[in-house]
Amino acid sequence: MDILKTKSEMQEWSRNKKKGSKTICFVPTMGYLHQGHISLMEKGKPLCDELVISIFVNPTQFGPNEDLDAYPSDIENDLALARKAGVTAVFLPDKKSIYPENFQTEIKLQYLPKFLCGKFRPVHFAGVAIVVTKLFNIVMPDIAIFGQKDYQQLQIIRQLILDLDFDIKIVAGDIIREKDGLAMSSRNAYLSNTQRVSALSLSKSLNLAKKLIARGEKNPVVIKNQIETFIGTFPETNIEYVSFCNPKTLEDIDQIENQVLLAIAVKLGKTRLIDNALIDHPSQ
Ligand code: AMP
Repeated sequence: MDILKTKSEMQEWSRNKKKGSKTICFVPTMGYLHQGHISLMEKGKPLCDELVISIFVNPTQFGPNEDLDAYPSDIENDLALARKAGVTAVFLPDKKSIYPENFQTEIKLQYLPKFLCGKFRPVHFAGVAIVVTKLFNIVMPDIAIFGQKDYQQLQIIRQLILDLDFDIKIVAGDIIREKDGLAMSSRNAYLSNTQRVSALSLSKSLNLAKKLIARGEKNPVVIKNQIETFIGTFPETNIEYVSFCNPKTLEDIDQIENQVLLAIAVKLGKTRLIDNALIDHPSQ
């Protein structure tokens, strides 16, 4: 497994592979890898000749009062897990390599960031858009894999690919969960014991909604109220949003027909957790 620390090393590596007609699959991450990340690598492994991951905690996607400085890291363990997953190259840049002095370009999507997490994290998706664009230009993949766990991010990247004419196929990976239902996240490491129990309120809410929808409930407000009451019974929970929306546009819906996206964000102390599910109405 090759470890590449600068843009030019990574670009040269990818150019050489392409000269040899090798295809490249890419999984961008912020490290502190868990089974959710590994599942994306396992999904990508059979799709291409080369499997590249990046580990980069991107400062531009964190707001001023967010957890950039506290973000967990264990590079040695990450490299061991990547090796085991069959990764052929890890791109491990430092901040200066990605954002040299006088860096000044912004990428702003008009609509998708207006909803869900974007309402609460105003700089987040512009940061994601710029770093993913740069990583695509540096790694030059044929396929890139992103998790449905960050559903809004996935939609934004799909849009970015269309709008900026990247010749890259986007593949989505399912949400990987702990045995008790909690969606895996590097941020779960921040949770106290009490918060870890309260964290289950997200996945349990998704199950509650699935049950109500399966019974024929079509009114998102009715389900939303039940979910908000339910989450409120768990200690230290502070709901940011519970949103039923159109899976493509992310706009709120007022009637559950066809497939809906239910997305939830809850703060547990300082830790912000998100989860979501695509739910089909039984009339489909
Ligand atoms: P991160 O390191 O949190 O930026 O995540 C890197 C990639 O892993 C993103 O595409 C995430 O959507 C994906 N990911 C994070 N958690 C999970 C999970 N529990 N299941 C599947 N994919 C995940």
